Amino acid sequence: TREIQLASRPVGRPVPENFRLAESPLPELGDGQILVRNLFISVDPYMRGRMNDVKSYSAPFALDKALDGGAVGEVLASRSGQHKEGDVVVHSLGWREYAVVEGNAATKADTGLAPAPAFLGALGMTGLTAYTGLLKVAEFAPGDAVFVSGAAGAVGSLVGQIAKAMGASRVIGSAGSPAKVARLLELGFDAAFDYHDGPVREQLEKAAGPGGIDVYFDNVGGEHLEAALAVLNVGGRVAMCGAIAQYNSTEPTPAPRNLMLAIGKQLTLRGFLVGGQRQHAAEFAGKMAGWLADGTVRYDETIVEGLDNAPQAFMDLLDGANTGKMLVRL
Ligand code: NDP
Repeated sequence: TREIQLASRPVGRPVPENFRLAESPLPELGDGQILVRNLFISVDPYMRGRMNDVKSYSAPFALDKALDGGAVGEVLASRSGQHKEGDVVVHSLGWREYAVVEGNAATKADTGLAPAPAFLGALGMTGLTAYTGLLKVAEFAPGDAVFVSGAAGAVGSLVGQIAKAMGASRVIGSAGSPAKVARLLELGFDAAFDYHDGPVREQLEKAAGPGGIDVYFDNVGGEHLEAALAVLNVGGRVAMCGAIAQYNSTEPTPAPRNLMLAIGKQLTLRGFLVGGQRQHAAEFAGKMAGWLADGTVRYDETIVEGLDNAPQAFMDLLDGANTGKMLVRL
């Protein structure tokens, strides 16, 4: 199969030389396994962390081996009782055209509900991250004012819409371009700003108005987190989902410098991993299917064509080229 391998570990921003398109033999299909032809692969910011050789919550990628990540594909052959030829399944051996996958490590995608790529986005890990981060981690309650960063991205755009659907008093988003700001307003955000337009704190204060914010869903870290700490109301909650502003950093980053505010304001800052939220998967799937069906929640996708372009798609993701979920179609 053709696959994308990690050729060298990026230092700071990834460059094309860190990746290599290669060909590897497929293993023989064993008992309980399925052969899948990948249709779409998911391109995710957390992969940047796995490119470093450091111990973290998910193991580093090996050099000269295929990358992996979420994928949705068609079952071509099955030696598993759980899946049959023609099924569309979600699994974690992306970044290659064909994969031999353990049957019990693949889940069937009900393409009657939504097209296959949605199972990597709104109906998949991305959606579960947004849903549980907002409701279970930040313990959102109706009437809360919510701020989300990375708001035009895959997770962020869902967070804002879910908050609106569940009765937020105000939803504010930040993103990296005027077009993304315009898109957020179309999606029903009450206010949105481009973080390049001035200090985040000033823009957030203005967008929040006198009511402040009760919940901050953090995808970005750094200056965004510092601004949110300044604007959060007493008893405010932060879901710490990501810190993309520092994924390429080679030095420790200074902000937030005002963490002490958490004491006086009695804030809760809670980090989470979507992997620890799987117990909510069924509740989430039901809710999200309903919201998509009645148009309450909409999702954007940025689709790049061809496995060869996957490394560029990843680099572009870190540069904000995507609106909504970044995917590669094989
Ligand atoms: P996105 O679709 O949001 O894509 C990443 C976006 O980050 C880019 O489009 C870009 O948009 C923005 N960005 C890049 N650099 C910066 C910067 N310096 N400052 C501000 N924004 C920046 O990706 P996802 O929705 O998949 O992921 C969003 C966040 O959630 C990430 O931090 C990710 O690591 C995290 N995550 C965490 C999970 C968990 O289990 N905790 C699970 C899934 C995701 P812009 O143009 O606006 O800059």
